[in-house]
Amino acid sequence: MALLVQKYGGTSVGSIERIQAVAEKVALAHAQGQQLVVTLSAMSGETNRLIALAGELHDKPSAREMDVLLSTGEQVTIALLCIALEKLGVDARSYTGGQVTILTDSAYGKARIQDIDGHRVHADLAAGRVVVVAGFQGIDGDGNITTLGRGGSDTTAVALAAALKADECQIYTDVDGVYTTDPRVVPEARRLDAITFEEMIEMASQGSKVLQIRAVEFAGKYAVPLRVMSSFVDGPGTLITLEDDEQMEKPVVSGIAFNRDEAKLTIRGIPDQPGVAAKVLGPISEANIEVDVIVQNVAKDNSASITFTVHRNDLDQTEVLLRAIADELGAEAVHADSKIAKVSIVGVGMRSHAGVAARMFECLASEGINIQLITTSEIKIAVVIEERYLELAVRALHAKYELDVQK
Ligand code: ADP
Ligand code: ASP
Ligand code: MG
Repeated sequence: MALLVQKYGGTSVGSIERIQAVAEKVALAHAQGQQLVVTLSAMSGETNRLIALAGELHDKPSAREMDVLLSTGEQVTIALLCIALEKLGVDARSYTGGQVTILTDSAYGKARIQDIDGHRVHADLAAGRVVVVAGFQGIDGDGNITTLGRGGSDTTAVALAAALKADECQIYTDVDGVYTTDPRVVPEARRLDAITFEEMIEMASQGSKVLQIRAVEFAGKYAVPLRVMSSFVDGPGTLITLEDDEQMEKPVVSGIAFNRDEAKLTIRGIPDQPGVAAKVLGPISEANIEVDVIVQNVAKDNSASITFTVHRNDLDQTEVLLRAIADELGAEAVHADSKIAKVSIVGVGMRSHAGVAARMFECLASEGINIQLITTSEIKIAVVIEERYLELAVRALHAKYELDVQK
């Protein structure tokens, strides 16, 4: 008997009709003899609605209370699904993260799962029940409710699959798999039958929100077979695989990711001396602000400049810090720009091919798109460009690398 962990995202449980449809799908798999652990997101829009409610009362509510608030969205859907299953004659039980127990650290809003106690789940499965677990939430060692970061239900699913040693973790969403790029931006995007964990981690970290990055990291670490599929239409979806060495000819570029969540800051006219980068970036990391791309330049007059990107939500705070640092160092100027976007091409085949970056830059140049920053890894090249050119850049690169054509 196969043990499956299935996760249904926000749109898949976005209305009573959709919850009914998920219940029917679950009931069918259960009737076919599969053991099922189902984890759910809140109804689409609900988490944002709750954030907005808190925002009406306080502009900086405490992270602890936000987690108590946000975890309620998933408690609604798990109960509704069990009620729908009950009506279909399927024995099912819902559990919050704290009830399972999904133990996390205490980093409210971005907690990490430390341990899952599978006893209760195993007992229910053994009794023939479907187990429904709230996604996105856990509990810390002191009994406080925590949440795992936006999109965190994916991570709940993978962590449950790892802890329960499930045969497969299936992420049901509103697309029928992982595409060469977001199909909402490029209609010609093509579904991939398979993608390696490494590539999926890069895609997710560069902005493809189809899977939360932590979920992919977790699945790679514990070798959880992971599949993305549609809750609306049947199909094979996309399997996230360990790299297949037998497949000799790997595509140079497998996918294109992008994100509009970053902002760029520059500090100009600082001394070109050892320790200056640490002085500029130290206080920013001390404030717990994550820095992404960093570039340092030296001008003709031997003064240096440092440009870096942070999450847009952190822009204001970073600018304040940077201006203080600028005063201290006697810098010439500080400049902040939120109208940027990052586009990345990703592919394991890049390792064994030269000239990939040059082709990417030529393609962007031929569209008249200026590149502001460049960063690379072994299997990724990312550029920061003006935000208004983002969709043009993604479409042009998708065509350039012929990602719409099955190879
Ligand atoms: P859920 O609510 O089910 O978790 P998400 O909105 O988090 O769903 O993720 C699904 C969405 O991810 C799709 O609707 C699609 O627009 C977007 N997406 C971004 N990049 C990709 C990609 N490479 N392949 C498929 N979908 C992608
Ligand atoms: N409901 C949460 C969110 O909107 C978690 C999730 O959907 O995975 O981010
Ligand atoms: Mg999601």
